[in-house]
Amino acid sequence: MYSSRKRNKYIFARRKKSYYVVRGIGAAVVFLLLCLLIMFIYVNLFGINSKVHLTDKTPKAEINSQVMASSFIESIDDGGTVSKDAAVDTSALGKTECTVLISIDGKEKEYYMDIEIQDTTAPVIECGSVVNVLKGSSPDMSALAKAGDNSGEEITPELTGTFSTDKAGAFDLSFTASDSSGNESTQDFTLNVIDLSAYGEIPENLKDEDGNISFMTDKGFSGNIDRYGVVTVDETVIVNGSIPLQPSYGPGIGGDAYNSFLELRNAAAADGISLYMTYGFRSYAVQNRRYATMVSNFGEEKVRSFCAEAGCSEHQSGLAFDVNTANDSADPDLASEFAKSDAGKWLDENCSKYGFIIRYPDGKESETGLSYAPWHIRYVGKELAEKLYNDGDWITLESYFGISA
Ligand SMILES: [Zn+2]
Repeated sequence: MYSSRKRNKYIFARRKKSYYVVRGIGAAVVFLLLCLLIMFIYVNLFGINSKVHLTDKTPKAEINSQVMASSFIESIDDGGTVSKDAAVDTSALGKTECTVLISIDGKEKEYYMDIEIQDTTAPVIECGSVVNVLKGSSPDMSALAKAGDNSGEEITPELTGTFSTDKAGAFDLSFTASDSSGNESTQDFTLNVIDLSAYGEIPENLKDEDGNISFMTDKGFSGNIDRYGVVTVDETVIVNGSIPLQPSYGPGIGGDAYNSFLELRNAAAADGISLYMTYGFRSYAVQNRRYATMVSNFGEEKVRSFCAEAGCSEHQSGLAFDVNTANDSADPDLASEFAKSDAGKWLDENCSKYGFIIRYPDGKESETGLSYAPWHIRYVGKELAEKLYNDGDWITLESYFGISA
């Protein structure tokens, strides 16, 4: 017994230094952790976090919306108020932190809150419910619809459905747009293909209350077919092989077109050039007889290349003039001969200043459908004429507006 007690005494003595240092540190750490725990419990149960009650455990805000952090605070205990609010940064998806100042009993405290920025709104597609195009056109479908989204992302609407502009018809199509958060929207529309060479077949339901039908060209210009069947694109009258005038249409000659022709003629005379009108207005009936005579002389296939069928002649519009040696014939030499003459050169260089264009330029037969006619001028107004002149490299009406001949 004695010896064992004595022994314990020794063991006790040997532990003395290190044992108590380690235990001391241990106790301090435990004490500190305890303090932190108490502080944590205090802050959460009795501190600011316990006093502010939110509308939602994890508040959510829509991307790019304008929202204040205080809108997520339902109530504050002890008569607390928000003494400094903050606008939530909603510019990006995901978590964002917000700090507001809460005042309770005259003491201000910072309060932190996490807000989830999300996108739950589907894109908005802007597209007409009815889109009309002409037969043979190649409409830029991407230009028909625009999509906007609250996320600010660039969204391209996708076309669903198939169509063909080879013949008249109606096609039910739709555009779909989706954002990166998976929100999707769809917009249905009807694409009507109009064949102007068959007026009788244009569905009445396409006409508005005034009898007009609007359409879109391949280059996005807006066109109109009025109740008399006259087609304008961006307010310019269009007549060509696939856009005819009705037999009854015959305005004669006059107005701006004729007055401008007189101005042109006087300006040419001042430069020592004699310009005179060979052909002006030609009615449907006259053109019909003329075409028949040509066909009997040259054969239909050849005539098609240089003479417009009745209804398809610009002369029926009263806006076109043939000058000087104008000769609708199968001889291409006559065209280059006039083009090289002083009158031909002057006309080419100056007619746009008076609102006229060379309607069937050299080398643009595939666009206009008719061969080079340097003597055939068409009134379109000064603004458009100057654009189409294009420093002498004439742009055709068909190419400029995006229509086929
Ligand atoms: Zn002509």
